[in-house]
Amino acid sequence: MAVNPIANIKIISMLKLLVDKRILILALMAAGLYYGISVYYISLWYVLLAGVILGVVFGKVFCRWVCPLGLMMEFMMGMSPDGKIKGMYQYHKVGCPIAWISGWLNKYSFFRIKINSDSCKNCGICDKECYIVAMEPVKYSLYKPKMDRPGDSFTCSKCLKCVATCPNGSLTYKV
Ligand code: SF4
Ligand code: SF4
Repeated sequence: MAVNPIANIKIISMLKLLVDKRILILALMAAGLYYGISVYYISLWYVLLAGVILGVVFGKVFCRWVCPLGLMMEFMMGMSPDGKIKGMYQYHKVGCPIAWISGWLNKYSFFRIKINSDSCKNCGICDKECYIVAMEPVKYSLYKPKMDRPGDSFTCSKCLKCVATCPNGSLTYKV
């Protein structure tokens, strides 16, 4: 079923707003989770379960939208003057079972990043925003044919900058 263009614009505007406010959303979610764990002793098994359920629906969103450790790492990397170190961290974070499972689920989650090749103008802006493409430009691209899609890779933490930045609305994140 074709998406109404006005509804599509509204979805993209809302997504841009969410992406702009991602650090604030992460801070609120992380504080809430930390409070729940430290005050109400919520079991880490429940946190793992929540991460997996989020992974099934949205892919690996936990690290960059929910996790207290993810928030700490973002601040630390934000203080690093070396953008390459930041990219390395984003690319190689491997220490957490939620990241392992939800990263694997990036290929199978209900919500996925998709490209509309008919409207794509091949401008390459999306690729410039993606740390996965920055680390492996010969393997990954969000729009080039016959290349792997970074959104389906283990490493994509659904920052959604690629979707928010496309000037044509050619990238979508939906079921
Ligand atoms: S930013 Fe949008 S139009 Fe430009 S290459 Fe990427 S998907 Fe295509
Ligand atoms: S959401 Fe987009 S920009 Fe962010 S890591 Fe995944 S593919 Fe790259």
